[in-house]
Amino acid sequence: MTQHLIIGGGPVATNAVETIRQFDAAAKITLVSDEPAHSRMALPYWLAGQVPREHTHTADAAYWQKLQVDARIGLRATQLDVPGKRVTLSDGSAVAFDRLLLATGSTPAPLPIPGADLPGVQHLWTLAQTESLLRIADAKPRPRVCLIGAGFIGFIMLNAMYKRDWHLAVVEREAHVLPRMLDAGAAAIVTQWLTDKGVALHCGASVKRITQSADGSKSVELDHGDKLDADAVIIGIGVRPNVELARAAGLKTDVGILVNDQMQTSAPQIYAGGDCAQAAVLFSDKPEVLAIQPTAVDHGRVAGASMAGQNVSCAGSLNMNVLDCCGLQCVSFGNLGTAQTEAMTISNPADNVYRKLLWQGDQIVGSIFVGRANDVGMLTDVGMVKGILQTQTPFGEWKKYLAENPFDIRRPYVATKVAHKLAQTTLLGRPAKARGYRFGNAQPTTRVGPFHGIYVNTQ
Ligand SMILES: Cc1cc2nc3c(=O)[nH]c(=O)nc-3n(C[C@H](O)[C@H](O)[C@H](O)COP(=O)(O)OP(=O)(O)OC[C@H]3O[C@@H](n4cnc5c(N)ncnc54)[C@H](O)[C@@H]3O)c2cc1C
Repeated sequence: MTQHLIIGGGPVATNAVETIRQFDAAAKITLVSDEPAHSRMALPYWLAGQVPREHTHTADAAYWQKLQVDARIGLRATQLDVPGKRVTLSDGSAVAFDRLLLATGSTPAPLPIPGADLPGVQHLWTLAQTESLLRIADAKPRPRVCLIGAGFIGFIMLNAMYKRDWHLAVVEREAHVLPRMLDAGAAAIVTQWLTDKGVALHCGASVKRITQSADGSKSVELDHGDKLDADAVIIGIGVRPNVELARAAGLKTDVGILVNDQMQTSAPQIYAGGDCAQAAVLFSDKPEVLAIQPTAVDHGRVAGASMAGQNVSCAGSLNMNVLDCCGLQCVSFGNLGTAQTEAMTISNPADNVYRKLLWQGDQIVGSIFVGRANDVGMLTDVGMVKGILQTQTPFGEWKKYLAENPFDIRRPYVATKVAHKLAQTTLLGRPAKARGYRFGNAQPTTRVGPFHGIYVNTQ
């Protein structure tokens, strides 16, 4: 009987476990995670008060039992012995494996400035950090929060805090917000939108130090002298893949743990995926770390199937960021522009509309969209462009058509049979199965909130 060991409790780990079980009912599976299995992507909904903490969880003891998984929650893997095929845990015990999956995720980068260790200055990445910010907010009716770093994940949390009507300020070192997700034109529209919503943006500024006064409130001092008052300071300046276990054991690493299309590391019996792995990416000629949920899910499923002896592969993930920015939708996919790409851009800041298609020859290799949630056209076009990118469909003569009719993606989408190609695409050679876990056996319900546009007629 094969012994599988999974380190981690995020989407890579849960998807891998479920996939192994689909292919092998008898294998022994052990999972070690220092946090309960949960989805970090769900943390903003908890922070916004839209769901209770438990809804962020993706498995519980009963579910692990149902899948016959020996789940060791609350323990860390501290050492990996590759030739001995053993992992040592934080309680001193050791677990042997035939196949191991490193699903250790990433850790937010520290901010090396005075005051970064003050109470109330924190990252917003884990269950514990979300809880600690909610505790600060409980003590103040409308807390003042200063977010350092205007990146994708930081802005997801900004959106949650905006829903709570907190006082918000953002400091970003680069010249514009969302520097790795949007170009300057799209970011200018987002900047105006956020400013109109009362979010104070400070781009092109660095934080010099954070100080605290006797009543516990903070002062965030910028390099050009401005000072921002805050009850809490959130550091969101990027993440680093958790590669230490792999690196110390002699596995090949670069920024992340290097893996092939089967998610296999340099040691064939050891796999890695998600935020900790550096793998093939669509429209890039080198492997990259794509620290996003869809990549984590795909990696987990491919790693699990590979570990269970299936011949599958993940030939490249699509870089995708989809963000509700306080009511303005921002999306980017793929390659956001290089010397080799050619751009088609439509910009109408007065109407909060921005669209950019990036081409290499007759193929779309990337795109940026900004628009309001009730712009149905934009939202359907976003879906179609994602499919075009995922199928890597060349457009031939339709490129000229799009240059003349930039809002009509539907015709080339249909003509080049993208939907047909998508319908035939599966990651594991068969349709995906629904997850077997729902917290409290809850069934899906729909609540129409203020952030639903008029196009979502769910009643
Ligand atoms: C607030 C927030 C919102 C997000 N929203 C989005 C979004 O909208 N869209 C999107 O695409 N992505 C989003 N992401 C990113 C997404 O959540 C991650 O890409 C994804 O969680 C990565 O999955 P993973 O399994 O690789 O790692 P993780 O989910 O980080 O899971 C790794 C787990 O392993 C545990 N672990 C690590 N080392 C050890 C060890 N040595 N021993 C035991 N356990 C260990 C960690 O504590 C952690 O629980 C968001 C992230 C955050 C923080």
